[in-house]
Amino acid sequence: MSSLPAQVEWIRGTVAGRPGHRLMVVLAAPGCAWARRTGGCTNCGFAAAFGTSRPVSPAELTAQLQEALRRIPAAEAGPVELDLFCSGSFFNPDEIPASAQAELLRIGAAHPAVRSLLVETRPEYATPERLGAARDACAGKALEIAIGLESASPVLLSRIHKGFYFDDFAAAAARVAAAGLGLVVYVLQKPIDTREGEALLDAVATIQRVFETGRELSLPTRVALEPCFVVPGTPLARACDEGRYRPPWLWSVLAVLVHTHALGRIQVGLSDEGMSASHRPRNCERCSVRLRKALSEFNASQRLSDLLALDCGCRDEWLSEIAAEGLSPANLSRGETP
Ligand code: SF4
Ligand SMILES: [Zn+2]
Repeated sequence: MSSLPAQVEWIRGTVAGRPGHRLMVVLAAPGCAWARRTGGCTNCGFAAAFGTSRPVSPAELTAQLQEALRRIPAAEAGPVELDLFCSGSFFNPDEIPASAQAELLRIGAAHPAVRSLLVETRPEYATPERLGAARDACAGKALEIAIGLESASPVLLSRIHKGFYFDDFAAAAARVAAAGLGLVVYVLQKPIDTREGEALLDAVATIQRVFETGRELSLPTRVALEPCFVVPGTPLARACDEGRYRPPWLWSVLAVLVHTHALGRIQVGLSDEGMSASHRPRNCERCSVRLRKALSEFNASQRLSDLLALDCGCRDEWLSEIAAEGLSPANLSRGETP
């Protein structure tokens, strides 16, 4: 009986532009069908880390959510964003049974402090029927659909072994728009077999296309920029251990923000605590902590000024690395077009 969620975190953050909290719930569920069927994406360890690899009943899933909701303090006035993760696709009925999809959202939305909800899915499971049922279950509270696009480039998507392409994402975005919901798009900076500058340019181009798609669809869209970290047991971890991969420089993350922050809301993923230094995005030992703190402040304020004021000797090393790829070094973190 999986009546306890795999993980619950209560995190201070910005919700609908106001200071609030996220309740991040990872349900104990079978885990990503793509990962179980094909081995999954080259950087991803979610299904292996959290997936039960056996069906979990609607009663077990709702018990897990009720347990997780107890983490919201009794006096909490909100706003709270409830993130309902399942180490895969919420709208895949083989992972979360159809009846449980609506029931979980109904229970979450009924909590008085919860202001908005978020679920993740691969594009192919986001059908008009499931999106409509999910919207109705939220009874007027905001629901965002998060899709791990990672990159708009077919070449990088093949390296990731994503199993879908930008057009599949865009079609799902149109269905999300038609259902009157919001969209969150994960963009992965520097997947396997990708060089530093190439990855930087790809993240910029991907974010531009994502916001362009959102604008065309009049779809509220935000981006979760995920500087790639290395999860043990993945093909990416093998590449890293064999010296064929280094996670992105934080200077590259800053460069992406310089070129995209004006397009819409961007949150930078910084959840790589507990990993060894070689497995996480970084600069040198002297400035990594400062950069991460400034990125975290950017997440709250959406202002770049603190980040742009930072400098360190290691910036020259980063510039040499991208210059070796033929990118013009001077312009990449100070606001000119790469
Ligand atoms: S990144 Fe998403 S689609 Fe890819 S294996 Fe992980 S959970 Fe599945
Ligand atoms: Zn440094």
